Amino acid sequence: MALKTGDEYLKSIKSLGLKAHMHGETSGALPEHGLVEPSQRAVAFTFDCAHDPEISEMFCVESTLCKDTVNRFTHLHQSTEDLINKVKMQRYCGIKTACCFQRCVGLDAANAIFSTTFECDQKHGTEYHQRFSDYWKWIQKEDLVVDGAMTDPKGDRGKRPKDQADPDLYLRVKERKPGGVVISGAKLHQTGMLNSHEILIMPTLTLRSGEEDWAICCSIPTNTKGVRYIYGRQASDTRKLEKFSLDVGNTTFGGQEVMTIFDNVFVPKERIFLDTEIDFSGILVERFASYHRQSYGGCKAGVGDALIGATALIARMNGVAEASHIRDKIVEMIHLNETIYSCGIACSTMGQQTPAGNYQVNLLLANVCKLNVTRFPFELARLATDVAGGLLGTMPSAADLSDPVAGPYIKKYLAAAPEVDVVDRIKVLRLIENLVAGAGAVGYLIESMHGAGPPTAQRIMISRQTNLEDKIKRVKDLLGIS
Ligand code: SF4
Ligand code: FE
Repeated sequence: MALKTGDEYLKSIKSLGLKAHMHGETSGALPEHGLVEPSQRAVAFTFDCAHDPEISEMFCVESTLCKDTVNRFTHLHQSTEDLINKVKMQRYCGIKTACCFQRCVGLDAANAIFSTTFECDQKHGTEYHQRFSDYWKWIQKEDLVVDGAMTDPKGDRGKRPKDQADPDLYLRVKERKPGGVVISGAKLHQTGMLNSHEILIMPTLTLRSGEEDWAICCSIPTNTKGVRYIYGRQASDTRKLEKFSLDVGNTTFGGQEVMTIFDNVFVPKERIFLDTEIDFSGILVERFASYHRQSYGGCKAGVGDALIGATALIARMNGVAEASHIRDKIVEMIHLNETIYSCGIACSTMGQQTPAGNYQVNLLLANVCKLNVTRFPFELARLATDVAGGLLGTMPSAADLSDPVAGPYIKKYLAAAPEVDVVDRIKVLRLIENLVAGAGAVGYLIESMHGAGPPTAQRIMISRQTNLEDKIKRVKDLLGIS
């Protein structure tokens, strides 16, 4: 087994021959497509890091499962230190790519399924855990990217899966065959799906009696027959297809979101990790969500670092870096960003071993982490917009910058501090624009709100994980109230 390099990863994805509907066309040349390329480079970065002598220690880890060195993005956490290192690695990737690098979802799904299948087998006498362990050992050895697919379309939110007008609005088992099952449905908001080799499908909510067909957890290769992809549209995304790349803001990296359709897809028995066990659906959802809420304590802090760096740089370029109100705003951004990171570290530090042997984050603190993430990046974006100035929304295009008549005027009138190159100043402003209002804002802002569940989901978990009666009792004891 060898840890893949970024180039080897890119070749392996290309060999899958995936196709997607994009802007009204069906593209089969995905890796070369201008909209897809930056997102693939972001995933490839996670592979290259394992080979970079300066940082490989953070990315390479010994797996107790396959007894070899694996990329941490496929690792089953063996300690609280592993959980902490995961968050550190995600922060590093966040600042280096300034986008969603997509590879964490499968990692979070694997850790949740590993422990859930163990407990399911103990209660129901099923054989899912060994099956999943074998599957994941193969993922580690091949160093593959796995997309964790949880979010169902949900249709009428007031109705249960079985009561929907169309039962496919929650992905379900439609038919049972001797060697496996046929699934039908869709998963929305699939981060990095077309940059993945495999899909790990999970239920989206706690299921009840009568909803056994929706309690399915399984895996399939991304190029399985019957799976169809529809590429997500993002603000300013077509700038990636324009001749002048300066307007993109982040010219190297980007995220990817995909609607994925499962049109009567056959899943063989050896790829099924939960089927009809409704009592474990909620546990799986809760664990996956908590791991992914921990993840945001790393990745969003990393992208926040990039936004803070760009904001401080533009202030310097504008000649206002020393103004006290600017310094104060930068400090406020740092404070908010480090609070996000602190929560990611805290829920990792307070993690605990599961009966299966891997480590689970502290559920309360992971949810506090994500609830902060639903707010703080928006405040960071507000402060960055404030410091950057109105030019953020009014700057001429890179095409006009290259125009022989308009270009010199743009350079003359966008000049700031004398030592600052005007094009560099535009670059920084475009990066800030990308993160607060462009394609990058999908990963940094919209995903901060809704990724790993919206704020209400975290509030429910916080309320469940807190012993309020104990707090009341302690106050009563303190005050002598019976
Ligand atoms: Fe990873 Fe963050 Fe993207 Fe989720 S949003 S896949 S945690 S980078
Ligand atoms: Fe996410």
